[in-house]
Amino acid sequence: MYFACPYIMWLMWLDTHCHLSAPEFAGDCDAVWHAALDAGVRGILLPSVSLRDCGQVARLVGQIPGAMPAYGIHPFFVTEVGEEGAALAALTEWLEKNPPVAVGEIGLDGTKKENWPQQERFFLAQLKLARKFDLPVVLHVRGAIDAVLRGLRQIRVKGGIAHAFNGSREQAEAFLKLGFKLGFGGSLTYPGSRRIRALAVDLPLEAIVLETDAPDIPPVWLRQTGQAGEKPRNTPAELPRIGKVLAELRGMDVETLACQTSANARAVLRVLQAAIGLADSN
Ligand SMILES: [Zn+2]
Repeated sequence: MYFACPYIMWLMWLDTHCHLSAPEFAGDCDAVWHAALDAGVRGILLPSVSLRDCGQVARLVGQIPGAMPAYGIHPFFVTEVGEEGAALAALTEWLEKNPPVAVGEIGLDGTKKENWPQQERFFLAQLKLARKFDLPVVLHVRGAIDAVLRGLRQIRVKGGIAHAFNGSREQAEAFLKLGFKLGFGGSLTYPGSRRIRALAVDLPLEAIVLETDAPDIPPVWLRQTGQAGEKPRNTPAELPRIGKVLAELRGMDVETLACQTSANARAVLRVLQAAIGLADSN
Protein backbone atom coordinates (compact mmCIF):
# COMPACT_ATOMS: atom_id res chain seq x y z
CA MET A 1 0.00 0.00 0.00
CA TYR A 2 1.41 3.34 -1.03
CA PHE A 3 1.38 6.74 0.56
CA ALA A 4 -1.65 8.74 -0.59
CA CYS A 5 -0.12 11.67 -2.41
CA PRO A 6 -1.62 15.09 -1.66
CA TYR A 7 0.27 16.51 -4.67
CA ILE A 8 -1.19 14.19 -7.27
CA MET A 9 -2.42 17.14 -9.35
CA TRP A 10 1.12 18.26 -10.01
CA LEU A 11 3.85 15.71 -10.06
CA MET A 12 6.27 16.59 -7.34
CA TRP A 13 9.91 15.61 -7.18
CA LEU A 14 12.52 16.17 -4.53
CA ASP A 15 16.22 16.27 -5.32
CA THR A 16 17.81 15.12 -2.07
CA HIS A 17 21.39 15.88 -3.08
CA CYS A 18 22.48 18.75 -5.30
CA HIS A 19 25.56 20.98 -5.10
CA LEU A 20 24.12 24.17 -6.55
CA SER A 21 26.84 26.04 -4.65
CA ALA A 22 29.53 24.37 -6.78
CA PRO A 23 31.61 26.57 -9.12
CA GLU A 24 29.95 24.84 -12.12
CA PHE A 25 26.73 26.76 -11.32
CA ALA A 26 28.29 30.12 -10.47
CA GLY A 27 27.10 31.77 -13.69
CA ASP A 28 23.54 30.51 -14.07
CA CYS A 29 22.32 29.12 -10.76
CA ASP A 30 18.99 30.92 -10.97
CA ALA A 31 18.27 29.61 -14.48
CA VAL A 32 19.26 26.09 -13.39
CA TRP A 33 16.82 26.18 -10.49
CA HIS A 34 14.00 27.57 -12.65
CA ALA A 35 14.55 24.80 -15.19
CA ALA A 36 14.26 22.28 -12.33
CA LEU A 37 11.08 23.95 -11.11
CA ASP A 38 9.64 23.81 -14.64
CA ALA A 39 10.50 20.10 -14.76
CA GLY A 40 8.50 19.47 -11.54
CA VAL A 41 11.24 19.57 -8.90
CA ARG A 42 9.69 21.23 -5.85
CA GLY A 43 12.32 20.66 -3.21
CA ILE A 44 16.07 20.50 -3.29
CA LEU A 45 18.52 19.64 -0.54
CA LEU A 46 21.79 21.55 -0.79
CA PRO A 47 24.55 19.86 1.20
CA SER A 48 27.65 21.90 1.92
CA VAL A 49 31.17 20.54 1.66
CA SER A 50 33.24 23.00 3.70
CA LEU A 51 32.85 25.86 6.17
CA ARG A 52 33.14 28.34 3.31
CA ASP A 53 30.50 26.43 1.37
CA CYS A 54 28.13 26.65 4.36
CA GLY A 55 27.90 30.39 3.71
CA GLN A 56 27.29 29.87 -0.01
CA VAL A 57 24.58 27.29 0.64
CA ALA A 58 22.90 29.63 3.15
CA ARG A 59 22.90 32.42 0.57
CA LEU A 60 21.29 30.13 -2.05
CA VAL A 61 18.67 28.90 0.41
CA GLY A 62 17.70 32.54 0.94
CA GLN A 63 17.20 33.00 -2.80
CA ILE A 64 15.69 29.72 -4.00
CA PRO A 65 12.19 28.66 -2.97
CA GLY A 66 12.19 25.00 -2.02
CA ALA A 67 15.92 24.89 -1.23
CA MET A 68 16.96 23.38 2.09
CA PRO A 69 20.40 23.46 3.65
CA ALA A 70 22.59 20.74 5.12
CA TYR A 71 25.76 21.95 6.79
CA GLY A 72 28.91 19.93 7.30
CA ILE A 73 32.44 19.19 6.14
CA HIS A 74 32.85 16.64 3.33
CA PRO A 75 35.64 14.04 3.67
CA PHE A 76 37.39 15.55 0.62
CA PHE A 77 37.68 18.90 2.38
CA VAL A 78 38.82 17.92 5.86
CA THR A 79 42.45 18.52 4.82
CA GLU A 80 41.65 22.19 4.19
CA VAL A 81 40.19 23.08 7.58
CA GLY A 82 43.36 24.25 9.34
CA GLU A 83 43.29 23.74 13.09
CA GLU A 84 40.75 20.99 13.66
CA GLY A 85 39.39 22.12 17.01
CA ALA A 86 38.80 25.62 15.69
CA ALA A 87 37.07 24.28 12.56
CA LEU A 88 34.71 22.11 14.59
CA ALA A 89 33.99 24.99 16.96
CA ALA A 90 33.17 27.19 13.96
CA LEU A 91 30.86 24.52 12.53
CA THR A 92 29.15 24.13 15.91
CA GLU A 93 28.56 27.87 16.12
CA TRP A 94 27.28 27.92 12.54
CA LEU A 95 24.80 25.10 13.26
CA GLU A 96 23.59 26.94 16.36
CA LYS A 97 22.91 30.10 14.42
CA ASN A 98 21.69 28.54 11.16
CA PRO A 99 19.52 25.47 11.82
CA PRO A 100 19.70 23.14 8.79
CA VAL A 101 17.53 20.16 7.80
CA ALA A 102 20.53 17.85 8.28
CA VAL A 103 24.23 17.73 9.06
CA GLY A 104 26.03 17.02 5.80
CA GLU A 105 27.67 16.20 3.62
CA ILE A 106 29.74 14.15 6.01
CA GLY A 107 31.19 10.67 5.82
CA LEU A 108 34.16 8.68 4.64
CA ASP A 109 35.73 8.07 1.24
CA GLY A 110 37.71 4.87 0.80
CA THR A 111 39.37 6.17 -2.38
CA LYS A 112 41.21 8.83 -0.32
CA LYS A 113 43.14 6.68 2.10
CA GLU A 114 45.92 9.26 2.52
CA ASN A 115 43.86 11.35 4.95
CA TRP A 116 41.84 8.50 6.47
CA PRO A 117 42.56 9.21 10.17
CA GLN A 118 41.51 12.83 9.70
CA GLN A 119 38.39 11.74 7.78
CA GLU A 120 37.46 9.46 10.66
CA ARG A 121 38.01 12.15 13.29
CA PHE A 122 35.77 14.59 11.41
CA PHE A 123 33.13 12.01 10.62
CA LEU A 124 32.76 10.97 14.26
CA ALA A 125 32.93 14.57 15.52
CA GLN A 126 30.18 15.60 13.09
CA LEU A 127 28.02 12.63 14.09
CA LYS A 128 28.31 13.95 17.64
CA LEU A 129 27.20 17.36 16.40
CA ALA A 130 24.18 15.76 14.72
CA ARG A 131 23.31 14.16 18.07
CA LYS A 132 23.84 17.42 19.90
CA PHE A 133 21.44 19.25 17.58
CA ASP A 134 19.11 16.25 17.16
CA LEU A 135 19.53 16.31 13.38
CA PRO A 136 19.67 13.62 10.69
CA VAL A 137 22.79 13.32 8.54
CA VAL A 138 23.53 13.24 4.81
CA LEU A 139 26.26 10.67 4.26
CA HIS A 140 29.04 10.24 1.72
CA VAL A 141 29.85 6.52 1.78
CA ARG A 142 31.97 5.87 -1.35
CA GLY A 143 34.23 2.86 -0.88
CA ALA A 144 33.67 3.04 2.86
CA ILE A 145 30.22 1.65 3.60
CA ASP A 146 31.23 -0.72 6.39
CA ALA A 147 33.40 1.94 8.05
CA VAL A 148 30.50 4.43 7.90
CA LEU A 149 28.18 1.82 9.42
CA ARG A 150 30.68 1.24 12.24
CA GLY A 151 30.68 4.97 12.98
CA LEU A 152 26.87 5.04 12.98
CA ARG A 153 26.73 2.16 15.45
CA GLN A 154 29.24 3.92 17.67
CA ILE A 155 27.44 7.28 17.65
CA ARG A 156 23.72 6.88 17.10
CA VAL A 157 21.97 9.64 15.17
CA LYS A 158 18.35 10.00 14.11
CA GLY A 159 18.91 8.58 10.61
CA GLY A 160 19.15 10.44 7.35
CA ILE A 161 20.28 9.62 3.82
CA ALA A 162 23.14 7.45 2.53
CA HIS A 163 23.77 9.35 -0.67
CA ALA A 164 24.84 7.71 -3.99
CA PHE A 165 24.39 4.31 -2.42
CA ASN A 166 26.30 1.56 -4.20
CA GLY A 167 26.52 -1.26 -1.71
CA SER A 168 25.13 -4.74 -1.21
CA ARG A 169 21.64 -5.71 -0.15
CA GLU A 170 23.02 -6.58 3.31
CA GLN A 171 24.63 -3.15 3.66
CA ALA A 172 21.40 -1.54 2.46
CA GLU A 173 19.46 -3.43 5.14
CA ALA A 174 21.95 -2.25 7.77
CA PHE A 175 21.33 1.40 6.83
CA LEU A 176 17.57 0.88 6.83
CA LYS A 177 17.74 -0.59 10.33
CA LEU A 178 19.56 2.53 11.50
CA GLY A 179 16.78 4.77 10.16
CA PHE A 180 18.31 5.75 6.83
CA LYS A 181 17.00 6.07 3.30
CA LEU A 182 19.23 5.26 0.35
CA GLY A 183 19.93 7.84 -2.36
CA PHE A 184 19.80 6.79 -6.03
CA GLY A 185 20.49 8.99 -9.04
CA GLY A 186 22.18 9.13 -12.43
CA SER A 187 24.05 5.85 -11.92
CA LEU A 188 20.86 3.83 -12.30
CA THR A 189 20.32 5.19 -15.83
CA TYR A 190 23.35 3.22 -17.06
CA PRO A 191 22.44 -0.24 -18.38
CA GLY A 192 25.86 -1.45 -17.19
CA SER A 193 25.14 -0.46 -13.56
CA ARG A 194 23.71 -3.89 -12.89
CA ARG A 195 24.14 -3.98 -9.12
CA ILE A 196 22.69 -0.52 -8.51
CA ARG A 197 19.78 -1.25 -10.85
CA ALA A 198 19.05 -4.60 -9.23
CA LEU A 199 19.09 -3.02 -5.78
CA ALA A 200 16.90 -0.08 -6.82
CA VAL A 201 14.36 -2.57 -8.17
CA ASP A 202 14.50 -5.05 -5.26
CA LEU A 203 14.43 -2.66 -2.31
CA PRO A 204 11.06 -1.64 -0.88
CA LEU A 205 10.10 1.70 -2.41
CA GLU A 206 9.95 3.16 1.12
CA ALA A 207 13.74 2.77 1.31
CA ILE A 208 14.55 5.00 -1.68
CA VAL A 209 15.09 8.71 -2.19
CA LEU A 210 16.12 10.30 -5.47
CA GLU A 211 19.00 12.67 -6.08
CA THR A 212 21.02 14.12 -8.93
CA ASP A 213 24.31 14.92 -7.13
CA ALA A 214 24.54 17.72 -9.71
CA PRO A 215 26.91 18.80 -11.19
CA ASP A 216 28.27 15.23 -10.88
CA ILE A 217 26.98 11.77 -11.89
CA PRO A 218 25.34 12.84 -15.19
CA PRO A 219 22.64 10.43 -16.40
CA VAL A 220 23.39 8.37 -19.48
CA TRP A 221 21.60 10.75 -21.90
CA LEU A 222 23.87 13.66 -20.90
CA ARG A 223 26.97 11.51 -21.41
CA GLN A 224 25.72 10.64 -24.88
CA THR A 225 25.19 14.27 -25.91
CA GLY A 226 28.42 15.65 -24.41
CA GLN A 227 31.38 16.66 -26.53
CA ALA A 228 34.28 14.21 -26.67
CA GLY A 229 36.56 14.75 -23.68
CA GLU A 230 34.14 17.18 -22.05
CA LYS A 231 32.53 16.30 -18.74
CA PRO A 232 28.79 16.96 -19.05
CA ARG A 233 27.21 19.00 -16.26
CA ASN A 234 24.35 17.34 -14.44
CA THR A 235 21.51 19.59 -13.21
CA PRO A 236 18.51 19.12 -10.88
CA ALA A 237 16.14 19.36 -13.88
CA GLU A 238 17.26 15.82 -14.77
CA LEU A 239 15.66 14.36 -11.63
CA PRO A 240 12.20 13.59 -13.09
CA ARG A 241 13.72 11.73 -16.03
CA ILE A 242 15.94 9.73 -13.66
CA GLY A 243 12.78 8.95 -11.66
CA LYS A 244 11.04 7.84 -14.84
CA VAL A 245 13.87 5.37 -15.54
CA LEU A 246 13.46 3.94 -12.05
CA ALA A 247 9.67 3.69 -12.46
CA GLU A 248 10.17 1.76 -15.71
CA LEU A 249 12.74 -0.55 -14.11
CA ARG A 250 10.32 -1.24 -11.25
CA GLY A 251 7.32 -1.57 -13.57
CA MET A 252 5.29 1.02 -11.72
CA ASP A 253 3.67 4.33 -12.53
CA VAL A 254 5.82 7.40 -12.29
CA GLU A 255 3.30 9.39 -10.22
CA THR A 256 3.40 6.88 -7.38
CA LEU A 257 7.17 6.76 -7.52
CA ALA A 258 7.47 10.56 -7.36
CA CYS A 259 5.08 10.80 -4.44
CA GLN A 260 6.53 7.94 -2.43
CA THR A 261 10.19 8.92 -2.86
CA SER A 262 9.32 12.50 -1.91
CA ALA A 263 7.43 11.23 1.14
CA ASN A 264 10.46 9.12 2.04
CA ALA A 265 12.66 12.22 1.99
CA ARG A 266 10.20 14.06 4.21
CA ALA A 267 10.16 11.15 6.64
CA VAL A 268 13.87 11.49 7.34
CA LEU A 269 14.13 15.28 6.89
CA ARG A 270 10.93 16.39 8.57
CA VAL A 271 11.28 20.11 8.08
CA LEU A 272 11.15 19.66 4.31
CA GLN A 273 7.42 20.26 4.38
CA ALA A 274 7.71 24.00 5.00
CA ALA A 275 10.19 24.42 2.18
CA ILE A 276 7.95 22.48 -0.21
CA GLY A 277 5.14 24.88 0.57
CA LEU A 278 7.40 27.75 -0.44
CA ALA A 279 8.19 26.21 -3.79
CA ASP A 280 4.55 25.43 -4.43
CA SER A 281 3.43 29.00 -3.89
CA ASN A 282 6.08 30.37 -6.25
ZN1 LIG B 1 27.67 15.51 -2.53
